[in-house]
Amino acid sequence: MKIIIGQGSCGIASGAKKAEAEFKRLIDENNLNVAVSITGCIGSCYLEPIVDIIDNDGCLTRYVHMTSDKVEAVVNSHLIGNKPVSEYLIPESGREFLEKQTRIALKNCGIINPEDINDYIAAGGYQAVKKALLEMDGDMICKEIEKSGLRGRGGGGFPTGKKWIQVRSQQEPVKYIVCNGDEGDPGAFMDRSVMEGDPHKMLEGMIIAGIATGAQVGYIYVRAEYPLAVHRLQVAISQAEEAGYLGNNILGTNFSFQIRINLGAGAFVCGEGSALTASIEGNRGMPRVKPPRTVEQGLFGKPTVLNNVETFAHVPYIITHGAKGYRQFGIEKSPGTKAFALTGNVNNTGLIEVPMGTTLRTVIFEIGGGVKNGKAFKSVQIGGPSGGCLTEKHLDLSLDFDSLTKAGAMIGSGGLVVMDDSTCMVGIAKYFMNFTEHESCGKCVPCREGTHVMNEILEDIVNGRGTVEQIDMLQELADTITKTALCGLGKTAASPVVSTIREFKDEYLAHVVDKH
Ligand code: SF4
Repeated sequence: MKIIIGQGSCGIASGAKKAEAEFKRLIDENNLNVAVSITGCIGSCYLEPIVDIIDNDGCLTRYVHMTSDKVEAVVNSHLIGNKPVSEYLIPESGREFLEKQTRIALKNCGIINPEDINDYIAAGGYQAVKKALLEMDGDMICKEIEKSGLRGRGGGGFPTGKKWIQVRSQQEPVKYIVCNGDEGDPGAFMDRSVMEGDPHKMLEGMIIAGIATGAQVGYIYVRAEYPLAVHRLQVAISQAEEAGYLGNNILGTNFSFQIRINLGAGAFVCGEGSALTASIEGNRGMPRVKPPRTVEQGLFGKPTVLNNVETFAHVPYIITHGAKGYRQFGIEKSPGTKAFALTGNVNNTGLIEVPMGTTLRTVIFEIGGGVKNGKAFKSVQIGGPSGGCLTEKHLDLSLDFDSLTKAGAMIGSGGLVVMDDSTCMVGIAKYFMNFTEHESCGKCVPCREGTHVMNEILEDIVNGRGTVEQIDMLQELADTITKTALCGLGKTAASPVVSTIREFKDEYLAHVVDKH
């Protein structure tokens, strides 16, 4: 018999460590032959701490909200008496939350022990590296990734295969693979969950990128506010080195690959490619003018593949199942699946992964269980501070890169914040503008001064001091910043304001009209 305790950040914050200690104490006290293991977040953060009991016949029983005070009842009834405690079992809605998803990047999260490479290998891990190294060459790998249609999951949606081919074609002997684990969007935690729950999968994706492009060194840029992710990555790297999947002459070939971890200090702008590489180089994390592009002159001025955690986590599946196998999920121009962090006024909060092309309605009402406390749905902010607000009329919109851009939003890294009808949309716009003003690196005037002025106007409007002319001024400023800012942070900074004025202008007017 085995007990598996969910210990992603969400599980630990909900009391999983105390529950684990209590299970161990009672198992010892009762002299029971039960192994205790850990796993990452399975996605149902709202049900944490989650504890799985696997009986000797392989039957899995899942308990939720399993705080330490409930452990004794489970030990006595289930472990000793062989009778599950029905009131702590996962509810039907919790099972549906998981069953309605299709998982590639998150497949092992909440199932395997992220601190044990053998669990990853038993789940098919490192087979893709074997195939890439022993049966394929760099050209074949790049072409397979290109054929799969994989697009960067960090927000831009740039074709990953095209990027890899560009780096492979550079004549420079030194190249780098960089994994962006900076994930600074408020409400987004997909990458953290992969790093905490299945770190080997992204390492495997990075190694394959190295084989494909001829790079021999990889860097993971991960925010220091993710200490558990950093710890699990360190454990995973040292285990992969010991098992011969990282280091010199991997699997007896002449291919060598090392991975290093770099900690970010919490600047949102360091999620931007050129700021991120500058930060790894020990310089101030500020975006630079392009060209040269990162694929030509990236980290230390060398050709660099820069993808985020989730993108690398898709690579092993593509190599193992082929581009055709990957394309069975998603839609023609956005194949595969996408992870979303579902938060806000929704019943089932957590992490989900669905095929591209799934509708917002399915995500919010079927998987998310609808709006909390029986309130009406008002809007969803997608893509964090760079994204936009979508409303009821968008509920049947396909969640994919192009449909969202057409609707004036963007997929971003995948944060989905659901809002009910009591939410003030001007307040939401103000929250995001405050964030971008604070995170602007200050290098260029439109972003540095423009976000500040927009924030001041929003402050006036929210506090009833605003005028109709100021609403027009917001739109003018938004237009100027979008056209003239240097990097993506500035270019998209006004999106939450633009989309809330477009969809909820009456609310803006109500704030200023009330004054007169
Ligand atoms: Fe810095 Fe903003 Fe200019 Fe980007 S747009 S370089 S974040 S000031």
